[in-house]
Amino acid sequence: MNIEIFNTYSKTYENFIPIDSENVRIYVCGPTVYDFIHVGNARPLIIFDVLVRFFKFIYPKVTYVRNITDVDDKIIIQSKKNNENITDLTKRTIEAFTEDAKSLHVLTPDHEPKATEHIPEMLKIIKTLIENKNAYYSNKHVFFSVSSMSEYGSLSGMKLDEMIDGARVEVNSLKKEPGDFVLWKPSEKGEMGWESEFGYGRPGWHIECSAMSEKFLGKQFDIHGGGLDLIFPHHENEIAQSCCAFETPFMAKYWMHNGYITVNNEKMSKSEGNFITVRDALRRFSGEVIRYSILSGHYRSPINFSFESLNESKSALDRLYRCSEGFEIDNNIDQEFLSALSKDLNTPLAISRLHELAKEFNKGNRLSGQLLKSSSRILGLLNVSSSEWFTKKDQIDEEKINNMISERNKARKEKDFHLADKIRDELKSIGVSIEDKENETKWRLD
Ligand SMILES: [Zn+2]
Repeated sequence: MNIEIFNTYSKTYENFIPIDSENVRIYVCGPTVYDFIHVGNARPLIIFDVLVRFFKFIYPKVTYVRNITDVDDKIIIQSKKNNENITDLTKRTIEAFTEDAKSLHVLTPDHEPKATEHIPEMLKIIKTLIENKNAYYSNKHVFFSVSSMSEYGSLSGMKLDEMIDGARVEVNSLKKEPGDFVLWKPSEKGEMGWESEFGYGRPGWHIECSAMSEKFLGKQFDIHGGGLDLIFPHHENEIAQSCCAFETPFMAKYWMHNGYITVNNEKMSKSEGNFITVRDALRRFSGEVIRYSILSGHYRSPINFSFESLNESKSALDRLYRCSEGFEIDNNIDQEFLSALSKDLNTPLAISRLHELAKEFNKGNRLSGQLLKSSSRILGLLNVSSSEWFTKKDQIDEEKINNMISERNKARKEKDFHLADKIRDELKSIGVSIEDKENETKWRLD
């Protein structure tokens, strides 16, 4: 099967030819564990999970690595804010992340390395970079010297002056050039850190991924993935570190980046404050609905998040479940469906093929129902039996909430405040807050 991928590095569609067809190797940047993930963070998890499921169907072996960033300034700041020690914070957040990923039917990667468990590997690379004159020590810090690498900027296409004008690089008087980035920095006593020949300190963010990808996938591997916002500086810097330390012409053969999830045309992000955590979304919709919604847009395009679109996804999934009732998964996958995925992982096209199969089933073609059930698993959809799906109690839909609210209003009218409060508490327990206005009751998710 010919698989086409849009390579961010070459900015063109390329045929996917693995370095070793016996073992396709994929690395994706995982979460920084300081808080619950939001729906925007869920997108790369789901997209690359589908890529891996698809490749596992095509190739004899796929090794998938998704790291966990458990040392970072954001974590230090959050632990102070919460008055919680760092290990407790990261442990709790990793557990919540694992739970969320499971709810979204994201399979566990082959390796999920933690940054804090790979400090010696990072220090080794930093040492090599200094020896190779790609990095320098400056007052307890080690910086990568971007001018030491002539190809620096080739992934993002950013010119050094643009990076500085756009203030995308941190200005620091210890740097020789403003574009240089930190590999190691000092930690205060009592702060998270490790002893090293550069002093007590901690690694920069970028160096983690160079160290962990090499450990589990080797100096060069097939696909490196992540969100669009990681192209610069994170991925640019990963390439610089890996290629200069390992003396290789490339780090990953193909670079894949997913687009943003937006809310009212603004990127969903922690800093914008317009985010919905996966946990909150899961109170109203099952993980499979969220997954369907994310896969119904092409991974490189922005998609707008709304509860209305989740409602539509729920109805669409209901249709697919109705047409696959009673079928068990087998190894027959629909060819048109596979061919859609082979075109730069075109999941919306693959999903529309599933709906075609559903239509054919409704016309009496039983084979189509079978193909629908078996093919869906590559997208991580139709994970339960149809009867289980339709009896699921944990899906809170708007209709149900509205019914509960009118029941409560009726109780208030009849001065049954005990019942009214009971319903309010019930709503609260599923994450719905209500506010009584003059003529109506408004509700929102907490
Ligand atoms: Zn990374």
